[in-house]
Amino acid sequence: MNDRFDYDVVVVGGGPAGSTAATLLAQHGHTILLLEQDKHPRFHIGESMLPFSEPVVQRLGIDWSEGNQFKSGAVFIDEKSGRRMFFPLSAHRKTYQLERAPFDQKLFQNAAAHGVKTHEEEKVLEVSCHEHGVDITTDKRSYRSRYLVDATGRTALMGRKQQGITRIENLGKFAVYTHFEDIPANDEADELFRTGCIYVPVVDIGWIWIIPLSGHRLSVGLVVQKERPKDCDVEELLHRYLAQSPILCRLLAGAKQFAPVRVEADFSYTNQQRYGLRYVCCGDSAGFLDPVFSSGVFIAITSAARVADQVHLALAEGREADPQLHAEVDGEYMLGFNTMRRFVERFYQSDMVHNLFFEADNHPEMKAEIAQLLAGDLWTGQNQLQNSLLASHRSVG
Ligand SMILES: Cc1cc2nc3c(=O)[nH]c(=O)nc-3n(C[C@H](O)[C@H](O)[C@H](O)COP(=O)(O)OP(=O)(O)OC[C@H]3O[C@@H](n4cnc5c(N)ncnc54)[C@H](O)[C@@H]3O)c2cc1C
Repeated sequence: MNDRFDYDVVVVGGGPAGSTAATLLAQHGHTILLLEQDKHPRFHIGESMLPFSEPVVQRLGIDWSEGNQFKSGAVFIDEKSGRRMFFPLSAHRKTYQLERAPFDQKLFQNAAAHGVKTHEEEKVLEVSCHEHGVDITTDKRSYRSRYLVDATGRTALMGRKQQGITRIENLGKFAVYTHFEDIPANDEADELFRTGCIYVPVVDIGWIWIIPLSGHRLSVGLVVQKERPKDCDVEELLHRYLAQSPILCRLLAGAKQFAPVRVEADFSYTNQQRYGLRYVCCGDSAGFLDPVFSSGVFIAITSAARVADQVHLALAEGREADPQLHAEVDGEYMLGFNTMRRFVERFYQSDMVHNLFFEADNHPEMKAEIAQLLAGDLWTGQNQLQNSLLASHRSVG
């Protein structure tokens, strides 16, 4: 570290992306400050993980099986006909359903254990990236670093500052969700907790998630494709849909709701300003997609790892002031993001769900390709479904 700088890198945001980037940069030997405005453990939604996160989790050196529910796959359910389709996801790599509060805390503490200086309850207010360094002002004090990693989640600090955020219109518009405990023992619940699958019932206004958590608890949410009407009672909406779902009625008979009903809205967007002079974004701050395929944390930590490796090389070679530093690896990120984006967009065209997902047993190769995408295996270049999703979008501009 140079005398003129407090740290090599300041990472803003102590969620999965920020803790991952900070830990990997510290493993490379750089001095890192990780700033989080909240205090861990703090509630966060996003509990279903993807298997292709595993290599990054291994690099971080944490055991993510500890205390968490093993996840073997995803089951899509047509609520009208009762048809179900299981996609196995954990053939070669393992993954889990987990509560984010302890998981995010574990990642944050792991960063500290790797030598990252971690500050909680410190909010970044202003950032200035210039040719000779980065000036960061928080609600406590100021810092100067050689580089900035923006991992502020959907706050998207740099994207909003640079007016790079564009909403994606055609996906889910809002989510309403809660948690249940004391799930009664019956065949439905036994199967759910034995397989650890995420269940995704498809309903007329969107889709529902049912995520089994350790301790015989369930995370349940409804994602709606319409704008939220001003007078809409979201709690009533959620409970109305839960009551109409035969599978949820079986799972929740006698169960106790133990968390408030929460709402998230306007969640899908792209960020056109993902990198620039002495900064880069990773995780949700680089872009965010409707969560139907549970891709959020996977994209967050894989993008953070890619960014950390690139920043490390640049710092080692003194190239960190190059505004185009991330141009090449950003292409890899966009391949993954756009694949998921086109896949999610097609999910909302109900013919895809009915003709592709629920017919998948008649097309084993297609089923394997869907499972590959749902697992997060996005960079092989060999997946015909992925290639056609990307090509059909290119052909319509
Ligand atoms: C309804 C819904 C359901 C979802 N379900 C899933 C799922 O099943 N599986 C999945 O993988 N993903 C899911 N997600 C997505 C998942 O929540 C995110 O993709 C994931 O949390 C991204 O991690 P991150 O580190 O980029 O951002 P975050 O986890 O949001 O972390 C960002 C951190 O930055 C901090 N911060 C922000 N601004 C500042 C500042 N100025 N100064 C200091 N700190 C700051 C915040 O406090 C926060 O802790 C879901 C999302 C939604 C909305």
